[in-house]
Amino acid sequence: EPENISALVSPMNLRGAQVGALALIDSAEREWTDDERAILEAVSAQAALAVDNARLIEQTERWVAELQTSSEIGQAITATLNLNELLTYSVSLVQSRFGLKQVNIFLTDPASDNWDALVFSGDGHGTQPKTEQRTLQYGSLPWRAVHQRQTVVAQDAQPDSVAWLPEDDPDVKSVLVVPLVLGQETIGAIEMRSAHTNTFDQNLIAVLEILATQIATSIGNAKAYQEERDIAEQLREVDKLKTQFLANMSHELRTPLNSIIGFSRVILKGIDGPLTEMQRTDLTSIHQSGKHLLDLINNILDLSKIEAGKMDMNIAPLDLKPLLDGAASTAVGLVKDKPVEVISDIPQDLPPVMGDETRMRQVLLNLVSNAAKFTDEGTITITAGIENERAWVRVADTGIGIAPENLESIFDEFTQVDASTTRKAGGTGLGLPITKKFIEMHHGTITVDSKLGDGSVFTITLPLAPVMEEKTPETTDEIVVLPPKPARLPRSILVIDGDARIGDYYQQYLEGKDVSLTVHTTGEDAVAVAKEQQPEAILLDILLPDISGWQVLEGLKSNPHTAHIPVVICSIIEDRFRATQLGAVAYLVKPVIKPDLLSVLETVGQMRGSVKKVLVIDDHADDILLIRRILEARDCLVLAAADGVEGLAVIHNNRPDLVVLDLTMPKLDGFGVMDALAAEDDFADLPVIVITARELTDDERARISTRAVAVLSKGHFTDADLLQHADTYLAPE
Ligand code: ADP
Repeated sequence: EPENISALVSPMNLRGAQVGALALIDSAEREWTDDERAILEAVSAQAALAVDNARLIEQTERWVAELQTSSEIGQAITATLNLNELLTYSVSLVQSRFGLKQVNIFLTDPASDNWDALVFSGDGHGTQPKTEQRTLQYGSLPWRAVHQRQTVVAQDAQPDSVAWLPEDDPDVKSVLVVPLVLGQETIGAIEMRSAHTNTFDQNLIAVLEILATQIATSIGNAKAYQEERDIAEQLREVDKLKTQFLANMSHELRTPLNSIIGFSRVILKGIDGPLTEMQRTDLTSIHQSGKHLLDLINNILDLSKIEAGKMDMNIAPLDLKPLLDGAASTAVGLVKDKPVEVISDIPQDLPPVMGDETRMRQVLLNLVSNAAKFTDEGTITITAGIENERAWVRVADTGIGIAPENLESIFDEFTQVDASTTRKAGGTGLGLPITKKFIEMHHGTITVDSKLGDGSVFTITLPLAPVMEEKTPETTDEIVVLPPKPARLPRSILVIDGDARIGDYYQQYLEGKDVSLTVHTTGEDAVAVAKEQQPEAILLDILLPDISGWQVLEGLKSNPHTAHIPVVICSIIEDRFRATQLGAVAYLVKPVIKPDLLSVLETVGQMRGSVKKVLVIDDHADDILLIRRILEARDCLVLAAADGVEGLAVIHNNRPDLVVLDLTMPKLDGFGVMDALAAEDDFADLPVIVITARELTDDERARISTRAVAVLSKGHFTDADLLQHADTYLAPE
């Protein structure tokens, strides 16, 4: 250390506070000039500003990153309506993405005053959060957040709050608890524990508060959805019981009724001996009432069968003419004691409709007997014809008619417009509702037009039976596109998913299909299980309780005994690129819906055996779909990739027999893909058909011609063009 040094020090001041100092040091003793002082002061003022700017930029960048993370988490959690899954993902995503030691979500019951909370805690390493019932400790941070409905924080930056740090874990150095508020209610709190001091600055707190609002909303949605499903389930159950009860009761009632009707008829016919006039009148009444009751029961039985979906229909081409003639002669019988004329005008050449004979007869009889019932004089007219490629049948009467306010409700069950007429005429109020349901089951329509006092017109329409034409053979040279092959599903599927119940969902989706499903809930030994079971497909979740699904996928693909098994990723986290890179054949984002699962499994099912594979690389999903449709005419499997990078990954993992390539694409265009293929010996001879929407320059055409086997232009090529080029490579060996 030199003995004589001189120093000139200037503070770095910013907005009245000192943020540092700048010093000039000379190893010799010296005087400092005024100029030197002035320069140092100026420089230190600049330096203070520069440091401040740098800090601001750093802070802003961090803030943006935090916001982005928060929005990603928000998106992931809004994708599920399953409360348990939602809480699991919230806890583990917040914990891992913000590098926290532990995250707890407390759910309290706003309706009750007790301090019990259901706690979901996660401390990282991809493990499944623990769930337990706990009592919030009076005065603790979570208690304060819930009961004072405000964010509370304990960390070094707020020295008087440090005393609130949790006692159960000495490694926790900062804690932030944000209440979960839904409308007027506090439904709980989210506690975020960090192993570092002063983790939570104002920006991060603001970000986490927004995230907490999102979590609270999602919890509210999930709860509402769950409640709705429970109620719907209960209603279905009640409905089922009602239907069952009606069916049982009706059967039980019909047996004794048959005796009542049968025996009263026997007595009325005088078989048991002569009757007095009084006895005849009374017995007729018993007989009539019995028949009415039987009608009612038969109708109820019909309705409950329809509602339970158990009404069997045998819909086939049906000639209406004999049915209409039958209905007309019934009408004549029904009005024989009244001054009513039945007119029937039905064309001889009425083409057949699609209908169930028994049900259609029931429909026509109901309309005709209503007309007869409610018409005291005039006519009942039955007509039929064709309009707009549908058949129509009309039953018109000149009876009492229906008031406009009742027109709507006559198709409702148990509706009778005027109890007194009906009492006279008989009826159950179920005829029209059943008629309407039958007609709807035929994809037909029924309408009514009526005026009080003038009569009513009921019109039904029915679809015509398809016309069987003589087939004339096609004389064009076009390649005939065959109907798609029936779907083949994998016969055995191994589901690797932390949630054991997921198996039940998939099982429901696959009901009636010949697929055996096993569920394995951990990742560590999943490869061994797959090796032993040799399933035809694996459905793999990413968030497993022990190791990550990515590790499992790598393990599966690097093991020679499992590498050939197609793996479909089913996860709430969407990272298709990583999945394709690691060798997954498809990606399903949870919650998985039935049609998606089936369509992916159909694709996977086709991977068995020596089916040829075509990879379509195109950034337009519609174009991929079109090419897929065309290629469905051939027994081949169509793989898809949305850009060149993804396409190359698929080619490496799952070598196709043919590549159909778009030119203009993001990330890596078609030229890039062809260059990459040409550079690798293994793929240099992979056939490529280019399909492009772009006008090619001579240069481009030359470049393509060295590599591609054909060039087709989008919008112009026909099915036949593509198939003709593809067939060379798709023929079975
Ligand atoms: P119901 O067995 O009582 O006839 P429907 O369901 O067949 O039961 O008919 C319901 C009600 O619609 C009848 O009670 C009657 O009030 C009215 N209605 C049906 N058809 C006619 C018609 N052709 N003329 C007048 N009213 C009718």
